[in-house]
Parts: sequence; structure tokens; C-alpha cells
Amino acid sequence: MPDLSQRLFFALLPDEGVRTQLRQLQKDLNRADGRPVPAKNLHLTLLFLGNVAADKINAVCDIAEGIAGSQFDLTLDMSGSFRQNNARVLWLGASKPPPELGVLHQSLCQQAKSIGLPVRKETYRPHVTLARKVYSRYRLPERPDRSIPWTIHRCALITSELLPTGSRYKVLVEKELSE
Ligand code: ATP
Ligand code: MG
Repeated sequence: MPDLSQRLFFALLPDEGVRTQLRQLQKDLNRADGRPVPAKNLHLTLLFLGNVAADKINAVCDIAEGIAGSQFDLTLDMSGSFRQNNARVLWLGASKPPPELGVLHQSLCQQAKSIGLPVRKETYRPHVTLARKVYSRYRLPERPDRSIPWTIHRCALITSELLPTGSRYKVLVEKELSE
């Protein structure tokens, strides 16, 4: 039987203005080794589901379609890194994450559980990954010179195909938040 499961996650996608600023910051990372996240893949994960069985994918799409709420603002004003295997992941985050982000995350966790998906109890640490597999000591300053203001207009359910060349994302559902 073919495996029709899909690797899924909920995320916020930057609009063009924010993407451009994120790319600019990535250019500052040129001095680092590692693999910058391709511009089209830049995102902030709301909830990572991992492999979801084919018979649950419609239910996950329904959860995405049901996302409601108003737009909110987020300021990306800090950076950091975490270890992954022997290398580091460099990310950008918010020193003051807006409460709406936690609310969205919690709501998605509960709904995922309610359809029988395993949801890990890790602390949610919202961030935009800029580069992976960084072995050098290079980091962005903890407080970058310029912060990036981001108005969150939309949430997405994304499927990720892991290829030798990197992940290929496809948006399955995109939901606009109200003004
Ligand atoms: P690549 O794996 O090619 O480096 P990627 O990490 O962006 O690219 P995925 O591995 O499909 O692509 O992950 C999609 C998103 O989910 C990313 O933001 C990733 O950091 C996050 N993610 C992946 N695995 C987990 C996990 N176990 N727990 C929490 N978030 C995860
Ligand atoms: Mg990954």
C-alpha cells in the first residue's frame, strides 16, 4: 500500500515586505557557513504535526478552515540559535510575543488532540528560522539593529516534502484573519 500520509504544520507566512526584510537579514549571515532557508520557505511555525495519516488529513484541513480571529502585530526584534545535531539553527524571534500567538498555538494543539493526533508538550518558542547547519561561530547580534514589524494577516496549513535538496512546502489551506 502506498504511504499517503503527509508531513504537516501550521504556520504564519510573511507578506512580501516582511520577506524582503528577512532576506536582508539572511544576507548578513553570508559570513556564516550553513544553509539559509530559501526565501519562499520562510515562516513562523504555529504547530508542527509531523506525519499525519491519510485518513486524518481532511480533519486537519477542517481545523485550518476554522481558524478565526483578528489580525495582530508581531515585532521580530531578537535573534538566537539552537543546536540541531552537531550544527546550529539561527533564528529570529520576538522579545514580546503577542498573546494572540499563544492563543492560536493552544487552540491548534487542543484541536489536533481532539482528532487524535499526538501533540508534544514542549514549550512553544515562536521563531523564524533563517539558516540551518551552521557550524561556524557566526551569530546575528542578539538584538539586531533593525527590528521587523509584522502584521499577521493569514495562517496556513502547509505540507512539507523532505527531498535531498531540502524541504518543499505546499500550502494546503490559507486562512485570512479579519481586520
Ligand atoms: P529541512 O528539514 O529541510 O531543514 P524544515 O525544517 O524547514 O526544512 P520541516 O523539517 O518539514 O522543514 O519542518 C517544517 C517546520 O516545522 C519547520 O519550521 C521546523 O522547524 C518545524 N519542525 C520540524 N520538526 C519539528 C519538531 N519535531 N518539533 C517542532 N517543530 C518542528
Ligand atoms: Mg526540518
